[in-house]
Amino acid sequence: MSENYFKLGLIGYPLEKSLSPAIHQAALRAGGLKGEYRLYPVTPLPEGQDRLTTMINHLRDGWLQGLNVTIPHKQNVLPFLDEMTPAVRAVGAANTLYMQQGRLVGDNTDIPGFITDLHRLLPGNAGHALVLGAGGSARAVVYALQLNNWTVTVAARRLEQAEEMLQALKAPSTFKVTQLRDISLQAMNSVKLIVNTTPVGMFPLPDASPWPEGTPLPQEVLLYDLIYKPPETQFMRYVLHEGLQASNGLGMLVEQAALSFERWTGITAERTAIWSAVSPTQSTGW
Ligand code: NAP
Repeated sequence: MSENYFKLGLIGYPLEKSLSPAIHQAALRAGGLKGEYRLYPVTPLPEGQDRLTTMINHLRDGWLQGLNVTIPHKQNVLPFLDEMTPAVRAVGAANTLYMQQGRLVGDNTDIPGFITDLHRLLPGNAGHALVLGAGGSARAVVYALQLNNWTVTVAARRLEQAEEMLQALKAPSTFKVTQLRDISLQAMNSVKLIVNTTPVGMFPLPDASPWPEGTPLPQEVLLYDLIYKPPETQFMRYVLHEGLQASNGLGMLVEQAALSFERWTGITAERTAIWSAVSPTQSTGW
């Protein structure tokens, strides 16, 4: 294989519906680079342990130049790493792996991916954000907001999960948790951003919404729904119907991928080309 051929890929399970090959092939083409981006399914542990080790060894021996990691392995790759970026240490999950000076580095581009897309949609000052859900992506979102001076309330169906997350992130005492079903608008009046990090509204249940029925929305708010399939969730429809702003999570997906690509290749990923590849009718991403 020539030195300038980039062999890239994604490990996780299941992977069939991933948009990542289209994104990275577009970035390779637009950057004039030779290479490929393939899906490497690795089943959950313990069954997938040998396969996971093999894939990591492929990075170490140079057969692969870069790997993305998705569910269920974002935590499972940590013991293999020689180096973790501060973001990976903070959220306990890596989505981008590569070799640097003989050392295996794990990075997390979900964090800058989310915040970059948020700034595109909501330029200006930080404020009070309401984050729905307290799972893996909520950690990246809350940490990104924390780094950018937002105050966060986490609404989750399991309060203990939300409390553990804030503790693990060493969040300031101004960050609060609340029951998802008991969101009280009085306490949330100042909210100018809602981020949905739950899978509620995603295929195969596109008609469901995580927003508690009958709860009014804040007066001026942007909904950022991490879901991008379907491109318009039930929750987004409700928010838009109320005359407020809503975005899906495609911009975060594009941006995290672009940042991974840049770590691996050292060249800028052409965002317009990527947008056209994943969403031909939505090339501005909004
Ligand atoms: P996860 O780790 O499983 O976390 C999901 C969270 O949602 C958990 O707190 C879970 O609570 C909660 N939840 C699940 N079902 C719920 C329900 N019916 N009602 C209330 N809360 C519920 O998943 P994740 O990795 O964070 O992913 C979440 C979503 O974000 C998925 O749709 C994923 O596709 C999307 N995502 C998008 C991007 C992007 O780039 N746009 C990146 C990452 C993830 P329990 O623990 O109690 O179930």
